[in-house]
Amino acid sequence: MQEAHRLKVYKFGGASVRDAEAIRNLARIVGKNTPQEQLLIVVSAMGKTTNALEEIFHLAHAGQDYAAPLTALREYHAGVAAALLSEAGGQIPPSTANQSHLANLLAQLCEQLTTLTPGDYDRQYDQIVSYGELLATSIVAQALGAHWLDCRPLIRTDHTWREGRLDWPTTEYNIRDEVPPLLLTGPVVTQGFLGGTASGATTTLGREGSDYTAAIFAYCLHAESVTIWKDVAGLLNADPKIFADTVRYPEISYQETIEMAYYGASVIHPKTIKPLAVQRIPLYVKSFLDPTAEGTRIGDCRHAALAPAFIRKADQCLISFESKDLTFISEENLEVIFGALAQVRLKINLMQNSAISFSVCTDFSAYRLEKLLNHLRDHFTIHYNTGLELYTIKNYDAASIQRLTMGRELLLEQRTRLTFQFVCRDA
Ligand code: ASP
Ligand code: MG
Repeated sequence: MQEAHRLKVYKFGGASVRDAEAIRNLARIVGKNTPQEQLLIVVSAMGKTTNALEEIFHLAHAGQDYAAPLTALREYHAGVAAALLSEAGGQIPPSTANQSHLANLLAQLCEQLTTLTPGDYDRQYDQIVSYGELLATSIVAQALGAHWLDCRPLIRTDHTWREGRLDWPTTEYNIRDEVPPLLLTGPVVTQGFLGGTASGATTTLGREGSDYTAAIFAYCLHAESVTIWKDVAGLLNADPKIFADTVRYPEISYQETIEMAYYGASVIHPKTIKPLAVQRIPLYVKSFLDPTAEGTRIGDCRHAALAPAFIRKADQCLISFESKDLTFISEENLEVIFGALAQVRLKINLMQNSAISFSVCTDFSAYRLEKLLNHLRDHFTIHYNTGLELYTIKNYDAASIQRLTMGRELLLEQRTRLTFQFVCRDA
């Protein structure tokens, strides 16, 4: 009997595809796979491209000049593609289908930027910002000689722009129908972060959503494992760019990981874990800089108490609502506040109630905050502070609280059995 093919899903984030050398490194990692293993490769936008596209979109939508950042973005992508081609020893002439594929995508992006209309910000955002992944996958697929798969017709979402909600049954049907035959022919490269509506519009799944995409494909195809390739050694107890003396968790449960992601640990997108946990698909987090090192295995495991985890969310906004007549904040008041927050899509990271005021800490968005104030100004006296940080210590102890709070003025703090959180001014 023939051995069944095993499928692995790899996800490469922005840093792992940021230039030609990084993409060569990716090719070496992919090249280590054995022929018995099928490979689906999910790729994010190159380097800081999503931020650049956000800026370009913002300018274009406001009717301002975006020529300079757009030119920089085009030259960046064309430059990486050209560097990879020249390294291929000129075997692939620049006129091949793949080169024109990239050129076509760049031309489509330029064209779409000229057709933006006022209003409708979030929908148009998705149509533009999605090009980061389309361009990156075009370049990576060509470098690997792999199949380029457009995930948008497969990953079906609703119309929640910028955070498309999945229609799982349709997505599962689509992926099971389309992808297995492609995998028989070799590695398949597809976009993270993107989806599509039933009417064919592009959606995005939320910033840093490419991890989630990897989990969606793994779930639908019953993959053997998912590996997220990052520039850190695995899942750490803190972001080494922010905190000194980090430790790596060699093994950690789905549940602990979900909680860390929820509190804002940037290592994995919060929605990633559930589909994997449902099917008990292990998730490996490994360093693309040191691919043979152990990394972290996230799975169905039990472990002793973990070292405290430190998580910082920057660019926070603390909003407090007071009833105008100094009456207590009632359930009716809360209903109005929550309703408005949901409507403008501001997510609550922390909340606290006192006698006559109710406070929420959210990610800062000038646009959404303005909408919220317009909704609620007549009902409440509203104060807000921006430029704040929200810190969470999971599995805290006295020493870890001391370490983090020392010298900081806390605007709000909250403690549960396992978690200590506080809001303070940006250092
Ligand atoms: N490129 C997207 C972002 O930067 C998605 C991702 O990286 O996962 O948010
Ligand atoms: Mg990214």
